[in-house]
Amino acid sequence: MLLLARTTPKEQVAKRTDGMSVFIVDMRDALRHGMTIKPIRTMMNHSTTEVFFDNVRVPAENLIGEEDKGFRYILAGMNAERILIAAECVGDAKWFIEKASAYAGERTVFGRPIGQNQGVQFPIARAYAQMRAAELMVMQAAELFESGRDCGEQANMAKMLAAEASWAAAEACVQTHGGFAFAEEYDVERKFRETRLYQVAPISTNLILSYLSEHVLGMPRSY
Ligand SMILES: Cc1cc2nc3c(=O)[nH]c(=O)nc-3n(C[C@H](O)[C@H](O)[C@H](O)COP(=O)(O)OP(=O)(O)OC[C@H]3O[C@@H](n4cnc5c(N)ncnc54)[C@H](O)[C@@H]3O)c2cc1C
Repeated sequence: MLLLARTTPKEQVAKRTDGMSVFIVDMRDALRHGMTIKPIRTMMNHSTTEVFFDNVRVPAENLIGEEDKGFRYILAGMNAERILIAAECVGDAKWFIEKASAYAGERTVFGRPIGQNQGVQFPIARAYAQMRAAELMVMQAAELFESGRDCGEQANMAKMLAAEASWAAAEACVQTHGGFAFAEEYDVERKFRETRLYQVAPISTNLILSYLSEHVLGMPRSY
């Protein structure tokens, strides 16, 4: 595993983010020498774990990059992760929208397909518009990242917009399916649970808004 650990105490560095280093840790070895992995059961299919380190020794040659500069390396990967998750959310939204549109066309109530009612159509159409807008931001963020330019603003916005779009699409899909949305065989309830994660992880929406407020709009840091 890649481990970010403090190597110089906070009191001895100018910035809190300095003084951390990245190491590669041999997990099989660490498990025999103080590392414990405890699975956390979650509401979706995700191998989430707590990892405890109790005097685990890591050889100095396992250091990656420069000592005390590790936070920067991790940060560099975060934009990529946000773009990746945003793209996943766009995919989720497309799945929900296709599923909802198809069901709205085939389910007949009171002698006509439910999709003939604007009350059923509009949430799906709105989710589609949200998804398309988010997708454009994902594309822009990916393009900037690919060309090695700064993409912090776009990666964060892409992640937030795509997570919200996938959640809107999930909502519309559940509502369109009525009671069957809760039946496991339709997969809607499973994806509904999964897609909710992305407003919390890998970064919560509030923290993205804080980033935009501070780093893009120049307002004071709020935390
Ligand atoms: C299934 C799953 C998998 C995960 N996988 C990983 C992983 O692989 N690697 C990893 O590093 N992490 C992982 N995480 C952790 C995830 O990144 C955090 O849960 C997420 O960043 C939110 O942090 P937190 O849980 O500490 O929430 P907290 O920081 O406790 O926040 C709780 C709530 O308060 C809000 N909040 C907190 N501070 C402020 C503030 N200043 N202003 C306004 N609102 C605020 C947040 O927005 C949030 O809604 C995973 C989490 C889950 C659920």
